[in-house]
Amino acid sequence: MSDLKLQNYMEKVVEKKLEEILTDRKEVCDCQQCKLDIMALALNDLPPRYVVTEKGEVFSKIDSLFVQFSTDVTTAIIKAIDQVKTQPRH
Ligand SMILES: [Zn+2]
Repeated sequence: MSDLKLQNYMEKVVEKKLEEILTDRKEVCDCQQCKLDIMALALNDLPPRYVVTEKGEVFSKIDSLFVQFSTDVTTAIIKAIDQVKTQPRH
């Protein structure tokens, strides 16, 4: 029981996608504050996908979810980047 965790898969998808986007967009600040602000804004725009996982379990479903939500996640992240770029909190 104590090894079970409630997690939002969408968070993992956003995290992975953001790393990809930041690699391509060098003009975007990638400090911890900006990255987390971008993730928070993007995640508020996306539907959560909660799953129960066991501690240490590999995210085996993330690849199919990643493909399924890729376009929506990219759109939400780009929107969030523009917002954070205009008013960075760092
Ligand atoms: Zn920053």
